[in-house]
Parts: sequence; structure tokens; C-alpha cells
Amino acid sequence: MAFEYAPAPESRSIVDIRSSYGLFINGAFVDGSGSLKSVNPATEETLADVATAGSGEIDAAVAAARTAYEKVWGKMPGRDRAKYLFRIARIIQERARELAVLESLDNGKPIRESRDVDVPLVAAHFFYYAGWADKLPYAGFGPQPRPLGVAAQVIPWNFPLLMLAWKIAPALACGNTVVLKPAETTPLSALLFAEICQQADLPPGVVNIVNGAGDTGKLLVEHSGVDKVAFTGSTDVGRAIARAVAGTKKSLTLELGGKAANIVFDDAPIDQAVEGIVNGIFFNQGHVCCAGSRLLVQESIAEELLATLKRRMTLLRVGDPLDKNTDIGAINSSAQLDKIRELSEIGAEEGAERWSAPCVLPDRGFWFAPTIFTGVTQAHRIAREEIFGPVLSVLTFRTPDEAIEKANNTPYGLSAGIWTEKGSRILAVADRLRAGVVWANTFNKFDPASPFGGYKESGYGREGGRHGLEAYLVH
Ligand code: NAD
Repeated sequence: MAFEYAPAPESRSIVDIRSSYGLFINGAFVDGSGSLKSVNPATEETLADVATAGSGEIDAAVAAARTAYEKVWGKMPGRDRAKYLFRIARIIQERARELAVLESLDNGKPIRESRDVDVPLVAAHFFYYAGWADKLPYAGFGPQPRPLGVAAQVIPWNFPLLMLAWKIAPALACGNTVVLKPAETTPLSALLFAEICQQADLPPGVVNIVNGAGDTGKLLVEHSGVDKVAFTGSTDVGRAIARAVAGTKKSLTLELGGKAANIVFDDAPIDQAVEGIVNGIFFNQGHVCCAGSRLLVQESIAEELLATLKRRMTLLRVGDPLDKNTDIGAINSSAQLDKIRELSEIGAEEGAERWSAPCVLPDRGFWFAPTIFTGVTQAHRIAREEIFGPVLSVLTFRTPDEAIEKANNTPYGLSAGIWTEKGSRILAVADRLRAGVVWANTFNKFDPASPFGGYKESGYGREGGRHGLEAYLVH
């Protein structure tokens, strides 16, 4: 039975987008030396002009963070820092709808996801690390762990606010101050977060937000006044940052790309596995570092599973991110859309079979229909490279050993999924997978108490959980 869905748009009147924004330095919005336009990827409408930082503004932001660290935040008792973090977490909850609508407008992700996943996790992250702020001596990093100082943090566009929370909450809980650079296509929710810092009376300079493209990020991470660099983004840029930081006293954590295997054994419940596959690759348009972008399915059930998957994909609703029934929103930028198209064309040229769910894509904006490639081999580029879009590469296997060998045959090592009825098989396979996170009979589940991070070219260091404190402490 097919359901007809009436439009169910979330109102955008809850959020007041200003025509222009400054940089957030030392507790105030100030002018920058350039500007960029933030665009709604679903409509190509310009949402706001955003000031960008050059070297003078980066100097000012780092100096503000240094002063705040030395005079206020670094020596403040943990129980007092916790009060600020709890206050920020509560304001995030109070302003959750506003944040969710803004995130969907600026990023293109469905409101269902920003409202039900991103923003609740952002608040949960601040609550979680607020709880640690006065308990650091009991975290297992020595009796008197000390903060590092000023942290330079650079984040990508796929989860703008959530990546901000992953960076800022543990840094502040440990007594560091921060200068954060959001991605150039999604600056707006970080600027609303800056307003939340003002509302929470956070001391000036503890959080500074500077916008700009890669050159601004480079100025920030290479600045001699920072003690710690935390980066989430592509492996290429991560590599360049690692080179720039090598030989300095800065400590570094890198959260980079992935090409996760989602492995389905022949005893898996097919309907549940299909839901997990859909969530694994089509959640957030596939703009997910830990997306289950390689489906490894046991040969004996491949036909049945793929038929069920295709049927399920025809029901995915692609379109207006602010519609509460939308499953798949807009691709974040035209550059990302070009990359997805290019790799998909290469997949077809290399001999894999392409199938896209039938759907009507809007005329304006950046869109890509959910797509799967079957007949993919390990040599194909779509099996090796991160597409970072709603595109799934399907490979088959016969034995558990073959599944493990194929799953590990990647330069990345961020995440993996296992679908089987047997608990013993889950444990045995998980043990041999070279991935930082392994989900069993589920996928893309996040919790602030659980550490997240990669092996190999997916980076080093962990975010989340007790482990996430380690990156922000001298011990
Ligand atoms: P990107 O590396 O192009 O950009 C990430 C950020 O780095 C942006 O803010 C950008 O302006 C900045 N930047 C670019 N060049 C820089 C330089 N030379 N020095 C300092 N900063 C610089 O990545 P992207 O396209 O924005 O994001 C997608 C990538 O992020 C994917 O590879 C994805 O897997 C990865 N990612 C990883 C995680 C994780 O936790 N492992 C989470 C989300 C995204």
C-alpha cells in the first residue's frame, strides 16, 4: 500500500537569521577582513553574509583565548566550569527548535534529523561533559590532570553543531579555552551558539568563533599561540595539518574520513538489516564519516536482500529539508554534488551496475537520488574512496573470513556494522575488524558516553566518553 503525504513544513519563523554576522571574539561580534555568503543548499538562496578572519583576526582570537585561559577559565574550579556547561546545555534544549531549523536551512539535512538526532545529541554532549568538569582527578589521567591551554578546533559541514559540541564541550570541561572554525558552507549554527555563550554569561574569550575557508583554518592551526589542534575533516587536509604541527609542542587529534563495511550474514533478520543499511548510508544524505558505504552481503541471501532494499528505497522521500516527512534532504554544496556525480560516473564506467530510486528531484538546489551499485569489486574506486553522498557500493562474500578480509581492505578504519543472529559471531568478527566503532545489529548510533574515533587513515585520538577528556589534558 502506498501512502500519500501532504506537505508538513516546519515553520522557519522561529529563527531570526540576520543579514550579516561578524566574528565572535572575546565575547563580542566584531568585523572581519573579508566575507562569505552562506547558501541554503535546498534553494540556492543566500541566507546571510558572514565575516571571515584573516591573520589579524586570528591573532586577536588566539590572544583573547589566551587571556581568558590564564586569567579566568584555566584556574576556575571544575565545579564552577560545570555550572556554565550545564547552563549552555539547558539553553540548547530551550532553543532546540530554533537550532534545528537553522541547521536544516544552512546544511540541507532533514528537519527530522536535526530535530531528533543532531540537536538532542548536542545538548547531551554538554550535559555529559558538564558532569566530568569537577571529577577530572577521578577520570584515570592522574590525580591532578591539567588543561593544555588554548585549543584550535576546525570542523566540517556535515554535522556543524554536533561537531562543535564534540570539540567545545570536552575542551571547556577540562579547563581549556577555544578558537573554533566552522566549515565555510555551514557557519550559521555556530554563530547562534556564540549568542548562546553570551546568554549563558560565559566569560569573554573562553569560546571564540572565526569563520572562513581553508586558508583561515590553516592560519589558526599553524598559529604559534595555540597549544592543541583538534581537526575533523578529510584525510588530505588532516595529513597537511599533521605535517604542519609536527615538530611543534602542539598536541593533535584527527578525526578523518571512512569507508565503513556494513556486513550482513545469512542468518540476519532481513527487514531489520535493510533498515540498518538505509540508515547506514542514507542518513544525512550519506554525508557521514562513519557511513556504511560498503555493503558486504553473504552471497546466499544477496538476491533477496537487494530486492528488499530496492523496494525500501523507493519509499524514501527526497525533498524539502524543512518538511517533517522528508527522509533525504539536499546535498550540502554544488562542489560536493559534483564530487558525488563524478565518482558515480566512474563507478558505472568501471563496470558496476547502477540503480537509483525513482524520485522527482526539485528544480533548484543540490540533489542526488539515493543510489546503489551492485557487482562492485574491491578494485573499483567506489569501493575504495569516500563518496560522502547517498551512494552505496554492494559487494558479496561467502565465508566470515572473506567478509573480514574485504572489510579490512581499506586505508580507513573508522566504523563497521555486523548483522547476524549469533552473539558469538558478532564478538568473533568484531574482534578482527580494524575499525574504531563496530555496531552490531544497528548502525549510526551515538552517545556522548561512548568514545568515537579511527584507526589508520581515519585519524587518531578519541572524542566522546571518558576517553574524550584525554585529548584536552596534560597527564
Ligand atoms: P575538509 O577537510 O575539506 O574541511 C574540513 C574543515 O577544514 C573545514 O572547516 C575547512 O575549511 C578546513 N580546512 C580546509 N583546508 C584546511 C587547511 N589546510 N588547514 C586547516 N583547515 C582547513 O572536509 P569537508 O569536506 O568539510 O568534510 C568532509 C570530510 O570530513 C569527510 O572526509 C568526512 O569523512 C570527514 N569527517 C570525519 C568525521 C570524524 O569524526 N571522523 C566527522 C565528520 C566528517
